[in-house]
Amino acid sequence: MTTIATSVADNIARIQQQLQQAAATAKRNPNSVRLIAVSKTKPTALIEQAYQAGQRDFGENYVQEGVDKIQQLSGLTDICWHFIGPLQSNKTKDVAAHFDWVQSIDRLKIARRLSDQRSPDLPPLQVLIQVNIDDETTKSGVSEAELMPLAEAINALPNIELRGLMAIPAPGAASGQTTSFATMHGLFLKLQAQYKQVDTLSMGMSDDVVAAIEHGSTMVRIGTAIFGARST
Ligand SMILES: *Cc1c(COP(=O)(O)O)cnc(C)c1O
Repeated sequence: MTTIATSVADNIARIQQQLQQAAATAKRNPNSVRLIAVSKTKPTALIEQAYQAGQRDFGENYVQEGVDKIQQLSGLTDICWHFIGPLQSNKTKDVAAHFDWVQSIDRLKIARRLSDQRSPDLPPLQVLIQVNIDDETTKSGVSEAELMPLAEAINALPNIELRGLMAIPAPGAASGQTTSFATMHGLFLKLQAQYKQVDTLSMGMSDDVVAAIEHGSTMVRIGTAIFGARST
């Protein structure tokens, strides 16, 4: 973050420009990267500012906080809400009832519960499998070996739709991240070859969007650079 206070709208415009430029540099369609504004811990007033600036995709990490905000902002009917945090089985019901996407699926048990609890009257919940690309013990996500069997099982569930993969590479050397991004892109292509509806590779955060887009990311998740630093 710069020390100059900029508005949420300015931040979004600047980031959109960076995303388009990175896509063009990678010889990709400039509009092929979807921006998820990560609004965790931030008040609904800031989400409304982002909405006024044209932002429609928002990411939340905590179930209760996310559901509260979704209910408070229910008048903004075209917001697309993404759950991006770790999900425990006792919280799946609220997520299935209120969110549009879940990006952090790493167990069949969770996927089954989401499918069972998703009302058939709603559009299917759109889901991504989270890959623990650097085998970090502190991070959630499946290993490469677990990915295809889990995808097959999820693909058979009725009320959720498998759309792709999500990853949070280990912080650190840019070259290491680049390797992780390349590996993710390979897994994504493999998944896409098998499941035609797969079109989403969610990777890239504030500091590494350019490398992520170079490696085929179609969705980036950005919080701080839009809404400012989080105090918690
Ligand atoms: C918090 C979070 C982000 C956004 O992080 P910033 O550093 O604030 O841009 C992106 N993805 C996930 C999964 C997160 O938890």
